[in-house]
Amino acid sequence: MYLKTAVFGSVAIRDAASLGPLEIDALKAYLSGMKDFVSLQDFVDQHRRLFVLTGAGCSTNSGIPDYRDADGKWKRRQPVTYQAFMGNEATRRRYWARSMVGWRRFGKAQPNNAHRALSKLEAAGRSELVLTQNVDRLHQAAGSERVIDLHGRLDTIRCMGCGRKSARDELQDELARLNPDWLDLDAASAPDGDADLNAHDLSSFDVPSCPICQGILKPDVVFFGESVPRDSVDTAAAHLKEADGMLIVGSSLMVYSGFRFVQMAARVGLPIAAVNLGRTRADEMLALKVEEACEDALAFLL
Ligand SMILES: [Zn+2]
Repeated sequence: MYLKTAVFGSVAIRDAASLGPLEIDALKAYLSGMKDFVSLQDFVDQHRRLFVLTGAGCSTNSGIPDYRDADGKWKRRQPVTYQAFMGNEATRRRYWARSMVGWRRFGKAQPNNAHRALSKLEAAGRSELVLTQNVDRLHQAAGSERVIDLHGRLDTIRCMGCGRKSARDELQDELARLNPDWLDLDAASAPDGDADLNAHDLSSFDVPSCPICQGILKPDVVFFGESVPRDSVDTAAAHLKEADGMLIVGSSLMVYSGFRFVQMAARVGLPIAAVNLGRTRADEMLALKVEEACEDALAFLL
């Protein structure tokens, strides 16, 4: 009902003569979305080109922990904001100290069967796009090529002064050279590749700046409080127009930058299925919901 109201709230459906061609298309798509899908395989089989939206749940089995619990709430404190990172040297010191420790594990993470299953879907010509909210590049590592990293990539560093990009691995070497005493620390990995460090004196931690312009170095990811690059949004939206269904994998959709694409899909009546342990922000818009681990739910594709 929610979708019907959202899409056709202002249209008297009984009076079919009043519907324009676009509205009729949307109505047809909406009605096809009302079909009962008996399984995820059934949903995938009945669509030609899927727009796939992935989140942290896709990478948990690769050793990258999820941010949120089954109710979509933060499992630990909220990640650093763009404003705090750019505005406060102590925040940057803390970020990079945690990142240096966390990267040793995050940087070695390998794709799991959920990534491989989606790569197979693409190889079969059935995936219009993988739009990922993850910054770990594991879809690409699994062989997917039609991928947009909506929130950027953690393996790349950007200078906020001159725009120069460099490899995170290079910065890791520099961080280690400047801060040898920190190398023995270990801490639980966090989703964004940093780690929980407590009770350690951060004032001694040395943060490198850009070798060209001395500008602030920042991971090339979209921080909280920072907007997603416009061209990523536009390109993804163009792909959405080519798709005939949407598959959400491992996301609670609590972040608007991802959720907006579900809203776009719903507006044009695309059937939407989701694999997620726990609730999602789009539960009432779904034609099918599968509450299983991503790699189990997608195993039929392997
Ligand atoms: Zn620079």
